[in-house]
Amino acid sequence: MNTEHPYILERGSRKYHCPGCKKRRFVRYVDTQTGNYLPEYFGRCDRESKCGYFLNPYQEGYTSMDWAHHGKKPFHESLSAKEVKKVKKVKSLKKTFFYPVETLNLTRSGYERNTFIQNLLQNIPFPFELEDVEKVISLYHLGTIQNGYRRGAITFPFIDSHCNVRTIQVKQFDKQNHTTSTDFLHSIIEKYYSRKNQQLPKWLEDYSNNETKVSCLFGEHLLSKYPYNPIALVEAPKTAIYGALYFGLPEHSLELLWLAVYNLSSLNFEKCKALKGRNVYLFPDLSKASVAYDLWVRKSNEIQMLLPETSMYVSDLLERLATNQDKSEGKDLADYLVKHDWRIFRKQKLKKVTDLEPETNETSICDKSDKSEVIKNTSIPSLLALIEKPEDWGEDIAELENFFKSFNQALSPTKLNKATIIQDYSRFIDGHLSIVKVNNGKRTFKPYLDRLLQLKMIIESDRSFQLERGIINS
Ligand SMILES: [Zn+2]
Repeated sequence: MNTEHPYILERGSRKYHCPGCKKRRFVRYVDTQTGNYLPEYFGRCDRESKCGYFLNPYQEGYTSMDWAHHGKKPFHESLSAKEVKKVKKVKSLKKTFFYPVETLNLTRSGYERNTFIQNLLQNIPFPFELEDVEKVISLYHLGTIQNGYRRGAITFPFIDSHCNVRTIQVKQFDKQNHTTSTDFLHSIIEKYYSRKNQQLPKWLEDYSNNETKVSCLFGEHLLSKYPYNPIALVEAPKTAIYGALYFGLPEHSLELLWLAVYNLSSLNFEKCKALKGRNVYLFPDLSKASVAYDLWVRKSNEIQMLLPETSMYVSDLLERLATNQDKSEGKDLADYLVKHDWRIFRKQKLKKVTDLEPETNETSICDKSDKSEVIKNTSIPSLLALIEKPEDWGEDIAELENFFKSFNQALSPTKLNKATIIQDYSRFIDGHLSIVKVNNGKRTFKPYLDRLLQLKMIIESDRSFQLERGIINS
């Protein structure tokens, strides 16, 4: 056993379902001391280019957490002082290289054969209007692969807040806009040169030295343009684009600005530094046994401790909506949104802000101007409630009505919970019943239904209570 590396990727050929792509290609970390697995989100997917999920317990602070609990030393403390110095030096010497802007500009045409864009305009259940799609293209600098084996694929550039192009992801989609393959523009260009046996251009040679290729958020360049907007953070650029199209572009400071981290395992402090001081709502994709949700809750708590001015809230909306099948298929917010007409969502735009002048479209890669009115106090738009599956309380209501029919005696006050003491039973029951009947299925009114069910339960479970008050005969 290697004592310097208490956690290692499991040796052998055993594979698990990957939290990222759900394929059974995932190698988990094991604790060499105990032989136990680390939590199921630590490990590496062997579909390196297609999925890229890799969560390392050393980088992610698991080591120090775990060692603290077990009274052992974290990994980096087992290095000698000389080794630590060396590691630090190598890290500080690392320079980040970027794509040239010209490479990005080469992607800015051919939208008529861009499958993803054409699906948005024609093939999805509720196609978007050309004007909105054009705005999204220009805001996020979406592009097209012009030729070669990825011809017609969409490009999602990751541009940082200093307008550097950190990477360009390339994705191919089917007619339903489900991913069929994933690539990076630098890999495509690299293959092109090696096929022709030519030397790589200088920038590409430099670029391949970057340790991390996806080193900023998708849409990060928009943060300075919209300095006060609340942020919706999702895994994939595709979901961010759907979010922006469904909820509307952030024309005013109350509206969500949609960003993406790249994939499930790439939510980290380095990337989130750009979100300092913002209100951030996170929407992880679904996953088997809620692994993705749990991971993002844990990670966002860690990040928030390091960024105290930032407020991060992981939405459990999808978790609550999803069936087990949705979960094992790893559905995302876009899968839910696409079933609904986007016009319903747009109508919900806050009245207060619709009167303001909309902003004009920008042309440069990084526009810092912000003309929107500053309204800093933001809350998540209630419009998210719209994508919730409507519940039907019909059966519950009928049962409750039937139960309480025989219940009209004058009774002593009952404490239902900390907040509710029932003084007047018939008024409480009648009032609650009429509210739930009128608002059947609306989540806001669920507490009314819950209180009735709770009262029924108390009565049923306490036979002496019932006997005492003559509700039933002995
Ligand atoms: Zn994977």
